[in-house]
Formats: sequence, structure tokens, C-alpha cells
Amino acid sequence: MAQNKRFACGECHLILQDSVDQCMHCPSSPVTLDWSGYVLIMDFERSEVAQRLNIERSGEYALKVSIR
Ligand SMILES: [Zn+2]
Repeated sequence: MAQNKRFACGECHLILQDSVDQCMHCPSSPVTLDWSGYVLIMDFERSEVAQRLNIERSGEYALKVSIR
């Protein structure tokens, strides 16, 4: 049972804003409420987490995203 109210992008793991159901960066990617782990990337160029997750933009990201 998903408890999240915001969707996460299945492609880049970006957590979308309230009532947004499509990632603006990945127009053909599926989104899901089934995600866990939250990370806020303030400065992706200096963030180890961002490098590990291949994040190329600052923002809010889910660590795990499950697309069924
Ligand atoms: Zn995306």
C-alpha cells in the first residue's frame, strides 16, 4: 500500500510536486507512488549521493522507485 502522496519519476527518480503526475524532464517515463527514501540534493555537483545516483539536477529525489 503506497503511502506517498507525491509521484516519483521512474527514470530520474525526481519527486514531483503535489498534483503533478509527469516528470518535466522525462516526458515518456512512467511515474509511481511506490517509492521510498528521500534525499534533497542542494548542489548536485558537490553531492556524493547525486554522483552515485547519476543525478544531474538539484532537487528532491527518491532513493528507491518501483515501477510495476
Ligand atoms: Zn524524470
